[in-house]
Order: sequence, then structure tokens, then C-alpha cells
Amino acid sequence: MTAVKDPMGRAVADYFEKGKALRLEVHSPMFDDDEIPVPYLFRDYSGMSKLEQRAIELSQGRILDVGAGAGCHALVLQGLNYDVNAIDISPLCVETMSKRGVRNVRCADFFSLSGTVYDTILMLMNGIGIVGKIGNLSLFFNKLDEVLAPGGQVLFDSSDICYVYEDDDGMIDLTGVEGYYGEIVYKMKYGNVEGDYFPWLYIDFPTLKDYACANGYDAELIANGEHYDYLARLIRRNKG
Ligand code: SAH
Repeated sequence: MTAVKDPMGRAVADYFEKGKALRLEVHSPMFDDDEIPVPYLFRDYSGMSKLEQRAIELSQGRILDVGAGAGCHALVLQGLNYDVNAIDISPLCVETMSKRGVRNVRCADFFSLSGTVYDTILMLMNGIGIVGKIGNLSLFFNKLDEVLAPGGQVLFDSSDICYVYEDDDGMIDLTGVEGYYGEIVYKMKYGNVEGDYFPWLYIDFPTLKDYACANGYDAELIANGEHYDYLARLIRRNKG
């Protein structure tokens, strides 16, 4: 990713350097325009949701924070003396994390990782979204086979976005939805920096559990959030 195509990174860098930021716009052909409040990416432990706080409490061993953004979770864990590694595909997010004091941070795509294994892999703020489409889940589990230490865990939060398709009577109407209803396409814009469209997956827990099972993983629902969101854990099932 180059800086001209990195709206999220530009927003994070701006907020870090100037203490304020423009609107980080989120566009999707499927929804009304929205925005990500940039200061939220800099939240501390007390500003995190209960699900995120729980994920931090359950983290252990050597930790990988995937799509670490401005580094909020990595910094909290580092402060608790954990061995934390943060990755992000946004060069400006990585640069900002480094300036903020995240010690082990690098610009890398989760799907290209190799070599090192982790006891805890964190994917927060719907970090499993990077899978993009449900058809890519087997690629995701194959990568986990490589980078998860024996007995290791993945902690992630996501949402069942069925509520988006509720009609006036409160019924879910999926008419016209092609494929799985949690497969979204987004584009972000920050000032004159505009990214490309990218696929982003929201997945309901039962569906995720089915895919996990088919790929040799157990999925455990740890807690439900306040609005169709949840925190879950993936653990590789013992062979044999
Ligand atoms: N976890 C952070 C930021 C979430 S936004 C928080 O909770 O505040 C999602 C982040 O994932 C973005 O910074 C984006 O650049 C990064 N990302 C997207 N695809 C990725 C991939 N394949 N590998 C690593 N990071 C990725």
C-alpha cells in the first residue's frame, strides 16, 4: 500500500502529529456513508469495549496484534510486559505505532506471514474482516496452521450484521443479497486521500463455528456484546 492510497494511515498519522484529524469517511455501495471517529483508534484500556478488555485479559504468551491500526491494544499489552508484535498493511499506521512506542511493529500482510509462531493472535475491531469473503476462510485457517503455536489461541470480535437487512416489521429480508450477507465492500477517504475498494467480512458466530470445525478448529463464544457483536476464541483441535 502506498501513502497516496492509505487514508486510514494518513488519518492516524495526522491525529498523532496534530492532535486533530479530518473526517475518515467510509463508503460502501451497500450502505449510507459513514465515518470512523479517528480518536477512537487511539483509545486506552478504559475507552475499550468490554469485549476488547476481555480479549486483553485473555491474552498470554507471545502475542501478535493483526491489523493493529494506531496500536492501542499493542500498547496496553506492552505496558503489561507482554511480548507483543504488531503488524498492519498501512505504512503510515506502522510508522505512527513506532513513534508511539510500539517496540515490535512491522508493515506486513497477515496472509504473507511465515517463520514465527504466536501463542495469542489478536484480531480486534472486527479484525477477522481482513478475510474479506467467506470463501477465503480456508486460506485464513491454513495461515493459522502456520503461525499459531501449539495450544495457541486467536481472539477476535465480529458482528452478525443481519440487523442491517431488517425491514419495517423487524423481519430479516435478504432478498437480492448475493453470497453471504456479511460480505461487505468498503472504500475509505480522508481529505484528498482515497483508497481502493476492499472486501471486508462480518461473520455471525454459528457460521464461523461451522467453518472453523470444517478446518480443524474449535470456536468458543466468549461473550456477547451490546449490539449483535461478540468475542470468540479459535483453538486448533488436537489431531488423532
Ligand atoms: N485493531 C485496530 C485497528 C482496526 S482497523 C483497532 O482496534 O483500533 C483494521 C486495520 O487492519 C487497518 O489498520 C488495516 O490497515 C489493517 N489491515 C487490513 N488488512 C490487513 C492484512 N491483510 N494484514 C494486516 N493488517 C491489515
